[in-house]
Amino acid sequence: MNQEQGKLIIVTAPSGAGKTSITRYLLNKYPQLSFSISAATRAPRAGETDGVQYHFISLDSFRSKIEANAFIEWEMVYEGNYYGTLKTELQSIWDAGKFPVLDIDVKGAIHVQQQFGNNCLSIFIQPPSVDELKRRLESRGTESPENIAVRVNKAAYEMSFSHQFNKIIVNSNLDEACMETEQVIKEFLDL
Ligand code: 5GP
Repeated sequence: MNQEQGKLIIVTAPSGAGKTSITRYLLNKYPQLSFSISAATRAPRAGETDGVQYHFISLDSFRSKIEANAFIEWEMVYEGNYYGTLKTELQSIWDAGKFPVLDIDVKGAIHVQQQFGNNCLSIFIQPPSVDELKRRLESRGTESPENIAVRVNKAAYEMSFSHQFNKIIVNSNLDEACMETEQVIKEFLDL
């Protein structure tokens, strides 16, 4: 077995901090990295496809997977909506000789970190401020005002956990944040 198998990268952040853009940049640049597609019970947004952004599944199916111990971690990230990292998803990425990149919430990230220890690099993307985060979520135009309020409140709470991760990257400038993240990952994986 390849000695490097079993390593993984977690990119976590409050919603709207830019982690999806940073993750996309990394995945485009490094074929050794592979996005870990989570299971989720929320409805797909316009432009989302099952099996690409998420494995969109029903609540019943999600519950069966919890019962079957199929998840590395799972969370009710937002009221009524469940998200989870499937063991089979990570295994198939390692089997392909690649490293999974998990774009997951802060609580999930802490759980994964506890299980994988030094085999895992956890990166917390921090927005410059909560006000800026609110502005970004509003300009994204995908969420209702109620949803934005929920996400902004949660973000303030999540930012208090930033020190629990291996690396904090402040995303004031997206290009710089991408390069900083890239550097940390290259060192960790020896790319
Ligand atoms: P969205 O609904 O905007 O796609 O994602 C909501 C949040 O759920 C994001 O912060 C995302 O990182 C997080 N998330 C996505 N997949 C998982 C997962 O498998 N586990 C956990 N704990 N959080 C996830």
